[in-house]
Amino acid sequence: MSVATEICEPLAVLGADVEVPLASGEKVGYAALDYAASAPALKRVWDDVAAYAPYYGSVHRGAGYLSQLSTDLFEQSRRTVAEFLDLRDGDQVVFTRATTDSLNLLAGAVPAGTEVFAFETEHHASLLPWRREGLAVRYLRAPRSHAEAVAALEEALLGASEGPKLFCVTGASNVTGELWPVKELTEVAHRYGARVVLDAAQLAPHHRVSVRESGVDWVAFSGHKLYAPFGAGVLAGRSDWLDAAEPYLAGGGASRTVARELDGSVAVEWHTGPARHEAGSPNVIGAYAIASACRALDEAGFEELEARERALVAKLTEGLAGIPEVRVLNLFGEGSDRVGVVSFVVRGWNSSHFSAALSAEYGIGVRDGLFCAHPLVRTLLGGEPGAAPHQEAVCGAPESSLPGERSLNAIRVS
Ligand code: PLP
Repeated sequence: MSVATEICEPLAVLGADVEVPLASGEKVGYAALDYAASAPALKRVWDDVAAYAPYYGSVHRGAGYLSQLSTDLFEQSRRTVAEFLDLRDGDQVVFTRATTDSLNLLAGAVPAGTEVFAFETEHHASLLPWRREGLAVRYLRAPRSHAEAVAALEEALLGASEGPKLFCVTGASNVTGELWPVKELTEVAHRYGARVVLDAAQLAPHHRVSVRESGVDWVAFSGHKLYAPFGAGVLAGRSDWLDAAEPYLAGGGASRTVARELDGSVAVEWHTGPARHEAGSPNVIGAYAIASACRALDEAGFEELEARERALVAKLTEGLAGIPEVRVLNLFGEGSDRVGVVSFVVRGWNSSHFSAALSAEYGIGVRDGLFCAHPLVRTLLGGEPGAAPHQEAVCGAPESSLPGERSLNAIRVS
């Protein structure tokens, strides 16, 4: 059984038995350990999509049988996602392209004058969309414990304005895999009148995400990290700001009526609800695939998945702990609670060379670099904001031509 097959059980991921050539010419079972970037689709998701593919038609745009079928499947997919996320009454599910798209959509829907708070440790998708006219972004320094994170948010909110406020937080880091204290942070945010958006790109594939229980106002995730194919994601949560905002895209489907006025102008009445932000022909296959993946994860059971994942992570981190040159990256300290994502640096090795060697010599696929979370990785490697790249904690030798602060993202298991 290849490593990939072992990891993928009991979810049966496509391509789990792929053989890849090594530099020597020998072929070995591929160990795909970079699912944190993109996970292959589940076989079951692929089968569901293949079974439906011959029959799809336009969504919300036809009276024919196949249009009705597609519209039904699209709306049923929305309900499946709502159940998966344990949404509250009145919440809505908007299908997007991915987490980045979802958070940009929300950034465009936030009322003008909103103060947005985010730790500098966020993935760029949750760090950057708020930098736009009309919003004031406050970046909070990297905390080194859950308690510090909660205290830092409280302190920032104490000094905040009376106007609308939003706090954006990741549920699980794509770099360290560490879990963030979402419920506690949400309680603090709500106490100060701030709303919360949860970046669940890494959390949703590993842990049950309950919007109702965590109290967050919105949640975003990507299909391609949740064992569905590329091309679709989700923004789900409160309707009020979304319904009051300009549509994310202007076009058909988002508009209820468009009328030519006597003076020659064109008046538009936009829909409320998800349609407002889903202009154009929607990605029904993508939505259907996400719903299929949600059902598969629910049926596999998060308790079972988490238990398997804990065991695999323990095996990996114990193994790594026995190698003196290896340092596992943690923001909240060794042994902090995490999903199946582990990054490490190897003294004396450049991470790009190291990951290339893992691929060429062992058939192991990992990711290296700064993982779209540059400030976080620099913090983990000991750099101060604004300082020159840190040299000592480099995967490679200091004379390497590649930037010194790279690290290696080694595993994502489920
Ligand atoms: N947030 C986190 C924590 C991520 O790990 C990623 C992707 O790696 C994203 C957001 C962005 O997801 P996407 O590239 O699917 O938009």
